[in-house]
Amino acid sequence: QAKQSGRATHRFFTSELQEKALERLKIERLLRKAVENQEFELYYQPQVDLRNGRVIGCEALIRWNHPGMGQVSPARFIPVAEHSNLIIEIGDWVIREVCRQAKRWQDQGLRLKVSFNVSARQFMRPAELLQVLRGALDDTGVTPSLLEIEMTESLLLDPHGLGTVLDEIRALGIHLALDDFGTGYSSLSYLRRFPIDILKIDRSFVSDSDKNEDDAEMVKTIIGMAHNLKMSLIAEGVETAGQASMLTEYGCEVAQGYHYSRPMQVAAFETLLQQRPPHGGQS
Ligand code: C2E
Ligand code: MG
Ligand code: MG
Ligand code: MG
Repeated sequence: QAKQSGRATHRFFTSELQEKALERLKIERLLRKAVENQEFELYYQPQVDLRNGRVIGCEALIRWNHPGMGQVSPARFIPVAEHSNLIIEIGDWVIREVCRQAKRWQDQGLRLKVSFNVSARQFMRPAELLQVLRGALDDTGVTPSLLEIEMTESLLLDPHGLGTVLDEIRALGIHLALDDFGTGYSSLSYLRRFPIDILKIDRSFVSDSDKNEDDAEMVKTIIGMAHNLKMSLIAEGVETAGQASMLTEYGCEVAQGYHYSRPMQVAAFETLLQQRPPHGGQS
């Protein structure tokens, strides 16, 4: 399959490039409308305490429900949104929606952390990012420490002025997580230099860790390093019971992945919460 498409790419290089550009333009045009028509929805994927199986939080993941195309994966439209700066508007919507939802859960007496993804493009406009965060906190009244921003390592490569905005976000009470950790180039000094609370071990290491010794070693090393730096850990992409028990053995605290649940609509996620109440929950 891969080889075949590789050959095809070679043969039809120009037309494939054109096709890609057209697809990008099409998505960009539809995305503009999607922002106006509010075609976005947040799904939530539980994060589970490995020691007792309780849901302690969740990650908000955006979905685009297009009337004609159906659901479009973020892998397909987020890069286009980033390229065209539509990610700013979409990202602002995500922030406000997450704060509203987190506050609803808080009002139900649940102690549930909600993490959400913030694009490097949003960090490139720090004043606007802070303004939207402050606005959403003020409007909803949600407790900021229930919120967690996920950013990628690539952001740390361009650290000019980054420390300041991260400090200001931390000062609001919002926690900071480094997403897809291990795939980028961040060095130990970056981890010390920036106020990062949580490392999310990338799912590529986790999914192969029960088959591949190098990946298992990598996971072990990241866990040890995070502990030494007094950072919390979340393992992404946990798909099997074997991976979960290996992570527990290595001392990882929290896991997220299909083994527990796929990302879900709010209603389904709330049903799951009733079955596995987080601390502070009713039952
Ligand atoms: P991410 O932030 O690393 O999110 C985790 C992705 O892994 C999600 O894909 C999730 O559905 C998937 N996943 C979770 N558990 C498993 C598992 O056990 N196995 C496998 N194979 N996959 C698992 P999703 O929802 O398609 O999102 C893809 C990426 O799109 C995200 O990666 C994130 O980079 C981006 N994204 C999603 N929502 C937003 C958003 O609101 N804003 C921004 N800027 N980016 C977003
Ligand atoms: Mg994420
Ligand atoms: Mg991730
Ligand atoms: Mg990822």
